[in-house]
This record gives sequence, structure tokens and C-alpha cells, in this order.
Amino acid sequence: MPLCHSKIVSTIEPGPEILEGRKSLIGDATEVRRLLPQRVMRTIGAWCFLDHYGPDDVSSPGTGMQVPPHPHIGLQTATWLFDGLVRHRDSLGHEQLIRPGQLNLMTSGRGIAHSEESPVPRGRLLHGVQLWIALPKDRQFMEPGFAHHADLPTVNVGGARVTVVVGELGAARSPAVVHTPLVGLEVTLPAGESVTLTTRGDFEYGVVSADGPATVAADEAGAAEGIEPGVIAHLRTGTKAITLSAAGLNRFFVIGGIPFSERLITWWNFVARTPDEIAAARDSWMTADGRFGEVNGYHGDPLPAPPLPAGTLIPR
Ligand code: MN
Repeated sequence: MPLCHSKIVSTIEPGPEILEGRKSLIGDATEVRRLLPQRVMRTIGAWCFLDHYGPDDVSSPGTGMQVPPHPHIGLQTATWLFDGLVRHRDSLGHEQLIRPGQLNLMTSGRGIAHSEESPVPRGRLLHGVQLWIALPKDRQFMEPGFAHHADLPTVNVGGARVTVVVGELGAARSPAVVHTPLVGLEVTLPAGESVTLTTRGDFEYGVVSADGPATVAADEAGAAEGIEPGVIAHLRTGTKAITLSAAGLNRFFVIGGIPFSERLITWWNFVARTPDEIAAARDSWMTADGRFGEVNGYHGDPLPAPPLPAGTLIPR
């Protein structure tokens, strides 16, 4: 398992490890907290990218999300909103508004392009997570596709309300099609309560607090670590349960999966295995050779790819 060397190994009893995100800009206006990849932890399961943004006031003109058409290969994008409204357009011709409680799941495979923007009218707040899922090597160049899931299963666990965005929790199973064993959950916890979620022993997990200070523990008896927006808690395989609590009403996004053993090159919006795959995708986008198609309806130019780095891209 090539990735294991980069994951922190501890001989003390397993508990959450807290990792800080870093601030980054998306488009011109949206500041995000980038929680994956981390230098010491590239993936959680096949989840290979996680941005948490907002809540931002996007009510005035010129604010909000404006991400021009750009390409992807080798991954699925998952868009999840806690508040607000985003319009997706892609080069397969889909146009889709997404609202809280719904999942946009785009499969890039060999190539797709899309844009994302705050529509007019749109309400005051924008708050969500943008995730990527690495496709396994035998499907990295699969046919592209797009799915919008407006009717995801929800489960009450104690006082918490859990939406099964990806994968399953107990008997509830998301209709979203993914290509490795994964889970993605939104957990809404009333103020002052706690909830314990059952886990799979062969999964590792990540927990993000969307709204405010909260705690996460590896099971009901385990030591609780504090989290807040801007950090991600990582729980290694073998975790028996995840207990979440918060003083105020809080939403969490929980991801998990079997540790992803393939080394990846992640550059710009591409996930690949070799530098040649990255260079070919960049060339296709910059020469508009048809691999990615065109996004119709977005007012503005597509995003140009940055120059390739001077050094060799190394799978990590
Ligand atoms: Mn994108």
C-alpha cells in the first residue's frame, strides 16, 4: 500500500487526528478551506479533494461562485450545499440547479468540462463542500456522465438526522453510483446533543464540522478531539464508531472509504497516473481538440490551464 508511508502511524490507541486545512481561492471571489489533499494524507478512501466554503453572503451582484468552464479527467466531482443555490452546466449538455439536500455527481472519466455559478436570484448565503473521488485505474478513462440526486435517503440516529449522500448507513443506501467502497454523510445534530455512528472496520474516515465548534471521538468511550470549520478529523481503519457532539446546532460532513492504495498525480483539475496522461489532457483542453467538448450557456471565457511545472510530476 504505497500511501501508507505518508499516513501517521501511532502506537497509542487510535483516535481522531486533527489536520488543518489551508485557504485557497476558487474563481475570483470564493475563498475556500482546502481540507484534502493534505501533505501527510492525500486521500481518505478514494476521496481525494475536499473544499469547504462559506457561509458567505452572496446577495450583492459580483459576489458568489463564478467558476468558468474547466476540464476534469480521472475523477468524480461531488457537490453538496448546506445553504444556497448553484447552477451546473457541462459539456454533455446538462444544466442543473442544485439546492441543499441534493447531490450533483459528475463523472469525468476520460474527459468532461463544466462550469459552476451562483444564479440570479439566489438567496443570501452560499455554504457547501466540493469533493473529488478518484476513479480506480481500470475506470479512470470511463465514459463521462452526470447525475443529479434530489431524493437521497435520510435516517434518524438518536436525535441526529443523517442524509446518506454516498454509500450506505445501516439499511439506507444512496442511489449515487461510485466505483470504490465509499461513504458520504451529512449529519445534522441538534444543539447540545451527541450521536454515535456505526463504522466499517475496513474504512478510514474524515469528519468536517460545517457550522461551528464540535467534538469527534473514535467511539463513545474514546477521547474527544475538538474540531471546527477549517480542520478535518481523520480516523484510521479499525475505528469502531464515530461519536459527534456540539454545543450548538451543527452540521457535519463525514467521508469514508477503504484506504486508496493507488498512487495519483493530481494536477490542476486532473487526476491521473502518469505525467503523460496529465500533459495529454492539458493539451486537449488548450487546443480544444474535442476530447472535453464545450460548455454552452456560461457567460465568460473558459479557464486556461496553467503551465505545466518545470519538474516531473510524481505520483503520490
Ligand atoms: Mn470542477
